[in-house]
Amino acid sequence: MVEEQLIRRGIRDSRVLRVMGTLPREHFVPEQLQRYAYYDGPLEIGAGQTISQPYMVALMTEALELRGDERVLEIGTGSGYQTAVLASLVYEVYTIERIRDLQEEARKRLTALGLTNVHFRVGDGSLGWSEASPFDRILVTAAVPDLPPPLKQQLKVGGILVAPVGPRWGQILIRWKKHGEPDQGSAEELTDCAFVPLVGRWGYREG
Ligand code: SAM
Repeated sequence: MVEEQLIRRGIRDSRVLRVMGTLPREHFVPEQLQRYAYYDGPLEIGAGQTISQPYMVALMTEALELRGDERVLEIGTGSGYQTAVLASLVYEVYTIERIRDLQEEARKRLTALGLTNVHFRVGDGSLGWSEASPFDRILVTAAVPDLPPPLKQQLKVGGILVAPVGPRWGQILIRWKKHGEPDQGSAEELTDCAFVPLVGRWGYREG
């Protein structure tokens, strides 16, 4: 997976490659799909949700330009795989998932792997986690029509927000760097992508 799907497509961050080469991805997919765990695409994880394609996880993680001392907010815990990648690379992860069952499964998986630097919350992640803010980095792993204002505000100046922005059926992965309070910054387009919608105040309606 690392050679064929990540390095060949241009992922260069050696810490990201090392972590994704060692984390057991089969631990994060339903039992009946375990033999496809390293498949080059997203997989169903239940409740109509997906674990993202390995390349997309690597690209988003690399785009966050992590050094190791960051506090990161992740929106959309899903299977917990991206959470585990982040937790292996940074100081602390705060992760929010809308669907309680998914969040509980993810929490068990991370605990079993001994990843203890993660704080979990069930709720609408588009509102952020104001008590724990400001964050050095924010990663949104579900599609939003625009960058949610609370997330821009809860990012530190100099921080990076990565999110798939656009309509339900296809988005552009955006990297936004914050230059000033409360929400000044500049955006860069990274690639086309297709994520499940974020359902919430600054996302889409259910259905
Ligand atoms: N990163 C995950 C992984 O590695 O398995 C995949 C995330 S999946 C593409 C998107 C997740 O966002 C889903 O689990 C979905 O339930 C969640 N989600 C949707 N709307 C949300 C919201 N408002 N707040 C938090 N999570 C949300």
